[in-house]
Amino acid sequence: MTPICPQCQSSRLETRDLGKKAGATLGTVAGAASGASAALSGVELGAVAGMVAGPGGSVLGAIAGAVLGALFVGAAGCAMGAVLGEVVDETILGNCRCLDCGHSFSHQPA
Ligand SMILES: [Zn+2]
Repeated sequence: MTPICPQCQSSRLETRDLGKKAGATLGTVAGAASGASAALSGVELGAVAGMVAGPGGSVLGAIAGAVLGALFVGAAGCAMGAVLGEVVDETILGNCRCLDCGHSFSHQPA
């Protein structure tokens, strides 16, 4: 359905997605932070796994474990932050802004 402005019934609206963007950013930062600890356990896991292949494998395994751990948790944090931000957009900030009268409101899909 198309949302309309509750004040002037205009359908010329823009979505702001402020919370979503902020949430995605925050989530990425938080994800990267916990990604760092995930990277550390990735290092350990990778080093242990790589040890089977010898000293070189241990180093490569540690690097691969760190990169995978950080990437995975960082991406998960970003996605989670975006979802949280979307909730904030819809419930708190008011995600829609009317281009005709400037009224901001939250669009609740009926
Ligand atoms: Zn309006």
